[in-house]
Amino acid sequence: MATNASLFERAQRVIPGGVNSPVRAFRAVGGTPRFIARAQGPHLWDAEGRRYIDYIGSWGPMILGHGHPAVLEAVQRAARDGCSFGAPTEREIELAEAIIAQVPSVEQVRLVSSGTEAGMSALRLARGATGRSKFIKFEGCYHGHADALLVKAGSGLATFGHPTSAGVPAEVVRDTLVLEYNNLEQLEAAFAAQGDELACVMIEPIAGNMNFVRASLPFMQRLRELCTQHGALLVFDEVMTGFRVALGSAQSLYAQAIPGFAPDLSVFGKVIGGGMPLAAFGGPRELMKHLAPLGPVYQAGTLSGNPVATACGLATLHEISKPGFFEALASRTQALVAGLMGAASDAGVPFVGDSQGGMFGFFFTAELPQNYGVVMATDKERFNRFFHAMLDRGIYFAPALYEAGFVSAAHGAEEIETTVSAAREAFATLR
Ligand SMILES: *Cc1c(COP(=O)(O)O)cnc(C)c1O
Repeated sequence: MATNASLFERAQRVIPGGVNSPVRAFRAVGGTPRFIARAQGPHLWDAEGRRYIDYIGSWGPMILGHGHPAVLEAVQRAARDGCSFGAPTEREIELAEAIIAQVPSVEQVRLVSSGTEAGMSALRLARGATGRSKFIKFEGCYHGHADALLVKAGSGLATFGHPTSAGVPAEVVRDTLVLEYNNLEQLEAAFAAQGDELACVMIEPIAGNMNFVRASLPFMQRLRELCTQHGALLVFDEVMTGFRVALGSAQSLYAQAIPGFAPDLSVFGKVIGGGMPLAAFGGPRELMKHLAPLGPVYQAGTLSGNPVATACGLATLHEISKPGFFEALASRTQALVAGLMGAASDAGVPFVGDSQGGMFGFFFTAELPQNYGVVMATDKERFNRFFHAMLDRGIYFAPALYEAGFVSAAHGAEEIETTVSAAREAFATLR
């Protein structure tokens, strides 16, 4: 039987670093990545037949857990009808309608195949619609690996300690301003200096690529005001938070707290594809009309709106739209975080966590961090030991301290209890 170690060795011969996305290589925590053979409900099985409770969920998409019967059925039926046509289908309309139905700020969406593509295209649209080049992003937020966005990006890059990627010409990021998350003074200063030249501000409303950090209400409120005053578009990157922290996505939470609040453009991915390659960006018709074929902003994709991916996404959105879905998911996620905090406290280990809907984060420090610098200053050595102690006990958390975690509807009270008991043992080894 192939072991994780033998597969990793074989993988490294033919795939750079043995993985197709850097964080999977376990570089941040050390050790051998698990090669996954199959998954069901809240569980993963690796190539050696070991079972894990999965708190990564493919980094967010698997909100129903693995192998949900309704999703499987939809995917199988769609595949039988054809894997790809390169022509429009009714299902694309249905998925667009399903997204729009939950997110009032979005009147139209364009479907694409990855979050990277969606973020890149939203930026191009913002620049094309405003006729401006400069834009703001925040340190620790990840918006995919488009050249202009690889400026002190969060996950993946942080592992290698490079502020930017090689191969990105300086000219390409010349117009990308990187500010500290939740830093109002920096925001005011940036707008005072060049607000009228900004095409947009792109932000993860709850940043999941520096673990779990919420944009504060005053910060978000002022950001919205400044964008409006200066004619810059506010772009919410909800690839991770969309249909994950609430049915209406993170923007619905800010809209509850800030009257009239809405972003101008939104970017989705992960959950809307239910585990298949699918993402989207959208906004008011007035902005979306700038896209080809209606307008001059070019954007296209051979596999965009793929019939199997849209079937998977639609079935997923249908399930999560059922009454009570998010309440149940949120209370299970809260129980996990509360259980972990209780176990850490009993062990005398400084530890704090937070969650929203089915997304959570935890830190080996006493207080919730408000920006990337503080996240990266938390106790990495403790995190890494905890990660491996949990993995040894069959609990699969994200293999880096700057990644968020995910609970699915398939995680029951039993899985949460098993996880908290494992954490009690793991925390005891950290003292
Ligand atoms: C995952 C993610 C992306 C990139 O999506 P991919 O599908 O991996 O290209 C962009 N933005 C955010 C906030 C993400 O979490």
